[in-house]
Amino acid sequence: MSGGATPIHASASIPVRLLALCLLAAPLVAVAPLALLPAALAPDPWLIVAAVMAANLALVMGIGLTPIRKACAGAQRKLAALFNATPEGVLEVARDGTILFVNAQLCRDFGYTSEELIGQSVEVLVPADARARHVGKRDGFLASARARSIGSGIEVCGVRKDGTRIPLDVSLTCIEGRRSGVTYCLVRDISANKAYEDRLLEANRELLASVAQLERNTLELRQLAEMGELLHSSFTEEELFGVFAHAMQQLFPRITGGVYVLRDGMDTTAEAVVTWGDLESSLRPVISQQDCRALERGRTHGTLDERAEPHCRHQCDEAGRPGRCVPLMGHGELLGVMHLYAAVDTPPRELTEGARAQIIQAAANQVALSVANLRLRETLRDQSLLDPLTGLYNRRAVHQWFEHEVRGAARNGRPLSALLIDIDHFKRFNDQYGHECGDAALRHMAGVLRNGLRGEDLVCRLGGEEFAVLLPETPMGAALNVAEKLRAAAERLTIHHGGQAIGPLTISVGVAVLRVDTECTEELLRHADRALYRAKAGGRNRVQASNELDCSGIYLRPPPPKSQPA
Ligand code: GH3
Ligand code: MG
Ligand code: MG
Repeated sequence: MSGGATPIHASASIPVRLLALCLLAAPLVAVAPLALLPAALAPDPWLIVAAVMAANLALVMGIGLTPIRKACAGAQRKLAALFNATPEGVLEVARDGTILFVNAQLCRDFGYTSEELIGQSVEVLVPADARARHVGKRDGFLASARARSIGSGIEVCGVRKDGTRIPLDVSLTCIEGRRSGVTYCLVRDISANKAYEDRLLEANRELLASVAQLERNTLELRQLAEMGELLHSSFTEEELFGVFAHAMQQLFPRITGGVYVLRDGMDTTAEAVVTWGDLESSLRPVISQQDCRALERGRTHGTLDERAEPHCRHQCDEAGRPGRCVPLMGHGELLGVMHLYAAVDTPPRELTEGARAQIIQAAANQVALSVANLRLRETLRDQSLLDPLTGLYNRRAVHQWFEHEVRGAARNGRPLSALLIDIDHFKRFNDQYGHECGDAALRHMAGVLRNGLRGEDLVCRLGGEEFAVLLPETPMGAALNVAEKLRAAAERLTIHHGGQAIGPLTISVGVAVLRVDTECTEELLRHADRALYRAKAGGRNRVQASNELDCSGIYLRPPPPKSQPA
């Protein structure tokens, strides 16, 4: 490739033409003395005058053209230097398309030497597939030649010597001579600009994509937060899993899934408590721990994208869809697993696998924590309302449940009875058989009460060896019957402890019924307590109705005890 200075073509420019004139005048100066020769030979004065004038003219022209000639040469050098110094390619093209002049930059841009280009058709610089069109355009330009720029806003393409294409910005101007028009082209290589523009467009595309992604993420985070609130306010596991399935479908409409919860105790199987999605019928109702790597190892297994790892054995899916199992850990305990799998014909993903995995993990954490919290709440409630020794409600529950029943019955005028039950001579029993045996007796007695009552009756351990029972929809007569039934059952009870049968134990029962003027549990139990006191005073192992009733007095005299503890 030639990068050096290039001479301007002699026949094309004005300075060049002046130079030619000078060169023509030079011989005239040289022959000026010869012009006087005919005058000397011919005596005709007019001929002498003409000869002298011709000689003078030749002399004047010879002398006068020298500085013009010098000026022309200087201008030519300056022009050449200017063209070769310009950072843009310069091209001079004859009307027929022949290249007359190229500057150094153009040679550099296209990879030719000036010698290779001058004399060639300008189409050598145009890609082969655009040459025919270029010839037509060139003719059109010459037909209405005016200075103009082509390529601004449109991509004009040139071709280098090595065949590579080069994006160009081209400005054209035409100088019409008497005989021919010459076109001057300023050619600028815009590869760098194009590359920059492309990078800018790409960056802009990426920016728009990440803004859209952020908007989607924000939406998903909002849905996740809403789901968290709903999960938190669920009262039962059934309600909680329903909320969760709905939220997962909103978040991932094309993903099928299910939540499996480990059964209680040492069981190693997990049961589907909720499923969702188009393919939910293909989910197994029960999976074993050995078939699920997430359950086995307590770590997430599988992906939902194409490069799926071998999925767990419990995923009975012949289509080979990618699947993911996420363990559900709540308060450090493995509660179960969430199993998901995606449809094969899933359209272009709206989320990257990484972002989706994060949301799935967050959702799994939320549901696991909510389940654990719900269970903890239930345990705490049970612990605070249940007597740990007998499993019956404790005194606190009496106030919670009894109060509710008493108010309802009082408001609706319905009968309601209360029994106060006390084990007879229990201190003696403890002293004789030991406290542990006493505990066992209390547990047995709780069983007797539970078995002898209806589902709607409420029984609780008030403390020590004292129990209270509430019998809804039960008038005094029926309540006395129930009390007697319990007393008889207690009497029949045989307690086995330390390989030996112990007993019997008897109870005394005080019975009270809700009266029109009885408004609260305390009052009802006070009446029952008074009756109990009288039952004790009357000899124990008996049922006593409260004083205020017509049927007051001993309801049933028990038979004499078979064997009382000493
Ligand atoms: P009475 O027939 O008059 O009711 O006599 P009693 O001995 O049953 O009544 P007392 O109130 O004098 O004694 C109650 C005994 O119950 C005292 C205590 O040792 C026993 N007791 C209370 N709570 C428990 C318990 O949780 N476990 C055991 N093993 N004994 C208990
Ligand atoms: Mg007592
Ligand atoms: Mg007692």
